[in-house]
Amino acid sequence: MEFKDFAELCSLLDSKSGRIEMTDIIAGFLSKIPRETLSIACYFIGGEVFPIWQGVELGIAGKLMIKALSDVSGVEDEEIEKLIRDKGDAGLVAEQILVKKTQTTLFQETLTLEKVYDNLSKAAVLEGKGAQEKRLSYVQELLSNAGPLESRYLVRLVLGELRLGVGDGIIRDAIAKAFNVDVDLVERAYQLTSDLGEVAKTANTGGNEKLKEVSLVPMRPVKVMLAQKAEGLEETLAEFSPAAFEVKYDGARIQIHKDRKQIELYTRRLENVTKQFPEIVKSSMENINAESAIIEGEVVAIKSFEDRKPRPFQDLSRRIKRKYDISQMVKKIPVEVNLFDLIYINGESKLETPFRERRKLLEEAVSATESFRLSEQMVTDNAEQADEFYEHAISLGHEGVMIKNLDAPYQPGSRVGYMYKLKPVMESLDLIIIGAIWGEGKRAHWLASLLLSVYDPARGEFLEIGRLGTGLTDEQFQEMTELLKPLVVEEKGQEVKIKPKVVVEVAYEEIQHSPTYSSGYALRFPRLVRIRNDKGPLDTDTMERIEELMRK
Ligand code: AMP
Repeated sequence: MEFKDFAELCSLLDSKSGRIEMTDIIAGFLSKIPRETLSIACYFIGGEVFPIWQGVELGIAGKLMIKALSDVSGVEDEEIEKLIRDKGDAGLVAEQILVKKTQTTLFQETLTLEKVYDNLSKAAVLEGKGAQEKRLSYVQELLSNAGPLESRYLVRLVLGELRLGVGDGIIRDAIAKAFNVDVDLVERAYQLTSDLGEVAKTANTGGNEKLKEVSLVPMRPVKVMLAQKAEGLEETLAEFSPAAFEVKYDGARIQIHKDRKQIELYTRRLENVTKQFPEIVKSSMENINAESAIIEGEVVAIKSFEDRKPRPFQDLSRRIKRKYDISQMVKKIPVEVNLFDLIYINGESKLETPFRERRKLLEEAVSATESFRLSEQMVTDNAEQADEFYEHAISLGHEGVMIKNLDAPYQPGSRVGYMYKLKPVMESLDLIIIGAIWGEGKRAHWLASLLLSVYDPARGEFLEIGRLGTGLTDEQFQEMTELLKPLVVEEKGQEVKIKPKVVVEVAYEEIQHSPTYSSGYALRFPRLVRIRNDKGPLDTDTMERIEELMRK
């Protein structure tokens, strides 16, 4: 299939925002694609070159792209850099400079979707000396065969900036529509395999029948079951009793896959983190007593194996992000795993098995060690005991408790109420917006990534404490932009400084120390509760309040 067709699809989608219309357009496109190209098309439409779970990194960043564009167009690197800074979109710049080129040169060959995928796959696996040069030549080859519109979308795709506003849900619905299959079966297959490209192929070749047969496969991450917020211990016990209470460990979810002599580790967002945690790979190999298994747990960065106190989440983040000198990091930031579920063992899916039995299977399959443990669990129908367990979990320095329905199956990807979480409530903070970044793609005219600040009466200054980017609806972004635009005092590229006037109430998960922001603190997962039109910038929570909360 020609890449031009894909570029035209992108251009059409860029002009639309209605979900139904976008779904119809994509369905029409998918139904016409040759079978062999179907998976690639699905990844590309979702803005990815490879499915996330493969953990493949393209290794093509802005600089390399500028060099490739310069070589193909004859325009100087610096000029391209400046254009990108001004326009804030490398795709549009590519289109602009390559228009000129097309007037003077003829393409050598038609660019196809397969060719793009092929070159990028080859570029992604390059390592060592000369890798960068070779990578450059793969990108150059693609660009030199791309027309202006194709280059706009090629560049955005390669840089991970496609942003068509097409989420997994739209692609799922489009697959169902294109191949006339049941949307719930498409969703189910996707939750089990995390790969919409594969699901599209199955839907196309085998329809509903084959989709029904899709099951768990070791080494292919499964969308994890999510927890709902509990109203309280008693309220949850009224819903199912007895219930399993477990410590809610303060770390990151990890899915461990074992297949004979191989182990793979995935995060909740399906990123492959096998390389980052060699000690978990080793423990899994030695202590999961099964040929094949899929097991879940929470990995926690701890101060030491003696006191097992959790370290701040940032330390674990460093372990997750670190791609080199891993052995040093293993010593510097030790981790433990607390295992809490088993969904596959020795060739059999256990998704339908009640949690009570899955836990038993887990206990049988795992030989627990100091750093590879079973989550602490208590089964009770007694609210007082449950309360004591909750206090105990908090006293360990963890987040709270998980409350699980012992009779429930495992429902991938859903927040179905089979498990609840209970944590102490963090009071929200009133903060002031002092900066923002102009959005990209469809959000190009909106101020996004709002820089939050807290007032410090001692210094008479507004100090940065985090960025607010999620939890805002399109309408709220629009409203924010209208409020903030007249207050812009300085613009540098996409960054803007804003006069401290607008107050927002922000909820968050935690306050952390941070070198990034001038207050020395950062809010973890800040979310907008509401805009406080009734408050001025000095009627807000101050630095003293942050320090007090931090001490608590
Ligand atoms: P939340 O991220 O606040 O929605 O809470 C759910 C998360 O808590 C899960 O995705 C796990 O990463 C984490 N968690 C910590 N301890 C447990 C446990 N014992 N059982 C299940 N999930 C846990």
